[in-house]
Amino acid sequence: MTNIGVVGAGTAGLHLGLLLRQHDIPVTIYTDRTADQVAEGRLPNSVAHHAVTIERERELGVDHWPVEEFGYFCHHHWVGGAELFFRGNFQSPSRAVDYRIYQPTLMGDFEDRGGRIEIRSVEAEDLDALSEKHDALVVASGKKSLGDFFGINEAKTPYAGPQRRLMVGLWHGVAEEDTKSVTLSIAPGHGELLDIPLYSFAGHTHALLFENVIGGDTEVLADARYDDDPEAFRRLVLEKMRQHHPTVAARIDESTFALARPQDLLQGAVRPVLRNDYRVLDNGTVVIAAGDVHSVLDPVIGQGGNSASYSGYTVGQEILEDLGFGADLGRRAAERRRERVEKVSDWTNLMVQVPPAPHMIDLLGAMSQSPTLADEFTQNFNDPIAQWDDVVGSPETAAAAIARTATRDTSEEPAHA
Ligand SMILES: Cc1cc2nc3c(=O)[nH]c(=O)nc-3n(C[C@H](O)[C@H](O)[C@H](O)COP(=O)(O)OP(=O)(O)OC[C@H]3O[C@@H](n4cnc5c(N)ncnc54)[C@H](O)[C@@H]3O)c2cc1C
Repeated sequence: MTNIGVVGAGTAGLHLGLLLRQHDIPVTIYTDRTADQVAEGRLPNSVAHHAVTIERERELGVDHWPVEEFGYFCHHHWVGGAELFFRGNFQSPSRAVDYRIYQPTLMGDFEDRGGRIEIRSVEAEDLDALSEKHDALVVASGKKSLGDFFGINEAKTPYAGPQRRLMVGLWHGVAEEDTKSVTLSIAPGHGELLDIPLYSFAGHTHALLFENVIGGDTEVLADARYDDDPEAFRRLVLEKMRQHHPTVAARIDESTFALARPQDLLQGAVRPVLRNDYRVLDNGTVVIAAGDVHSVLDPVIGQGGNSASYSGYTVGQEILEDLGFGADLGRRAAERRRERVEKVSDWTNLMVQVPPAPHMIDLLGAMSQSPTLADEFTQNFNDPIAQWDDVVGSPETAAAAIARTATRDTSEEPAHA
């Protein structure tokens, strides 16, 4: 009987595994940590899922965090001046739940539905042995040798290294805007601050994700050591926020502003990389990459986890549609997901470009004047293909989007002030 092996119990591996279990296909997930170990670990990221991913969670029966309580409804943008503070609305809410809660919960769901989880670390040299037990392998874990196994798609990987150095922590003492939202605050030349309402072990917190341009004034945040002097660290965060991200700083209550827990902090950097889709082992078993092992995105626009969900789910759909394996499955899965995976990668890479592309500056300026354009840009966090093709992909698409939405703004009531 058909039997699929998956490496990694992240969002890509779990969404794939849960989909296959809905169709009674035996699945074993090999992962290096138990659910308890994931829950007890350091903050791994600060992931927001958009409505398109939440809809997939509903279909999988794992939408445990209703958007009425856990969701947020719009983006606020600040681009360096009072007149450049503006809002973009989602048609349906997004939601951020700590992955140390989210992934262990879904690991439980997967096992409750008959999925097998085997705790072990897998490296590239283990794949031949694993392939003897399964009709196909999906690798949904990108560390070290497994990434090297697939090899980089050089044509779609423009950067030789990380474009931002990151510091993200979960904080108390950050008030909401009038409407619960993510704020994307851009400090030209220094980087971005994403303020994300995120549900964690400490309850409703705010993830403050500083995306620091290398050589910029906020880069020090990626190196400062919280454990050496928590109060000095807190003061440094406040100082950089006041200096570069004033609309977020204005919502801080300094008397209660504090890191939720010492382990709720992450510093690091990611190199955006697109890797090849699949390989076929000597015995004919196909090994398909899904999630970060296939496409690593800088978190600046919060797409990696959403893309991992899409990628894992899409591989699952391809398995279900035609239970034929080998190279053909790899080709079909690659074809099916290529456009979205590549366009979200292109869009993300554009957003971290230094200096910014002139048409992105034009777009942000136009969005501050056009609620229609700001809403379209925001809603397109659910649809990276439309974002690339109709808005950000080139100077021509940007000019067309600005002209198209300006006409609508003058002929319709604005959606919001
Ligand atoms: C600071 C930050 C903020 C982010 N914000 C967002 C956001 O707002 N929205 C968004 O969509 N994305 C965001 N991302 C990206 C997101 O975290 C990743 O894209 C997503 O987690 C990838 O999912 P995955 O399933 O591919 O891999 P992972 O979630 O990394 O899961 C990998 C799995 O493999 C296991 N594993 C690791 N090594 C091995 C091994 N050798 N053998 C077996 N198992 C192994 C791990 O334990 C884990 O279960 C952010 C990332 C960062 C760093």
